[in-house]
Amino acid sequence: MQLVHRVALVTGAGSGIGRATALLFAREGAKVAALGHTADEIEQVVADIHEQGGVALSIVADVAHASQMRDAISAIEAQWGRLDVVFANAGINGVWAPIDELEPGDWDQTINVNLRGTFLTIKYAVPLMRSTGGSIIVNSSVNGTRIFSNTGATAYSVSKAGQVALAKMLAFELARDRIRVNVVCPGAISTEIDNNTVERDLDEVREPVIFPEGKIPLTDGRPGMSEQVAALVLFLASDVSFLITGTEVWVDGGESLLQG
Ligand code: NAP
Repeated sequence: MQLVHRVALVTGAGSGIGRATALLFAREGAKVAALGHTADEIEQVVADIHEQGGVALSIVADVAHASQMRDAISAIEAQWGRLDVVFANAGINGVWAPIDELEPGDWDQTINVNLRGTFLTIKYAVPLMRSTGGSIIVNSSVNGTRIFSNTGATAYSVSKAGQVALAKMLAFELARDRIRVNVVCPGAISTEIDNNTVERDLDEVREPVIFPEGKIPLTDGRPGMSEQVAALVLFLASDVSFLITGTEVWVDGGESLLQG
């Protein structure tokens, strides 16, 4: 077990990659604070962790809301008095649309959840992490880091690129506190993110790009699974990756190599 005696926060833990990571962290011995903005989803994840013999706390909060995130970290401090691992994972696809149809409110919503949310998660977590050091893992994407041909995913890709700059700035700043900061960049993963996606008139702007058979070379085109991303997050959370900070790792079966 790689996370015994550790306390981990997972945002967006109610489904998809966050849920798989929360369950894996708990199986590896961590006490897990599972945070999301939909109470019944978060309570279900906590119940599943308890069922597998783990320890977990449910926190209902919106990652884009400063005082809710400050309170979330206070709740972890009150419960366990420390925080070793943070997986800043909560995110939305938001509106994917041509620039003419991408409204200022659409832009703000995506940037607020994905980028401001990541900033707030880390900002309020760091003071509690300083006494022990630890590992922060940010969930970015192939979009905005290697793929720039998903026309319409502009706000999303900008938010994902911004997360990488945020992580690298903080990897340097926080090294003296023995806090590592790394980024995972998944390709297509089967999750519930389509529920958080609005596509508007993309046929008008997408260039016709012809790919070889199947867009994911390693899997003959099949999307990845949340558990495969969670395994990478565990590696970056654990002491095995002690010397690794300030870097992205793509977890996409080679998808972004085709399109980059
Ligand atoms: P998902 O199943 O929709 O999970 C996202 C989770 O974040 C959901 O539980 C969602 O809760 C929660 N969430 C959304 N907005 C939130 C907010 N403001 N405050 C708190 N929680 C919030 O999708 P996923 O694919 O696992 O996505 C996780 C991360 O992976 C995202 O950052 C995404 O950009 C990234 N990613 C995904 C893929 C992919 O192909 N799936 C690829 C690259 C990167 P509700 O469902 O209740 O809204």
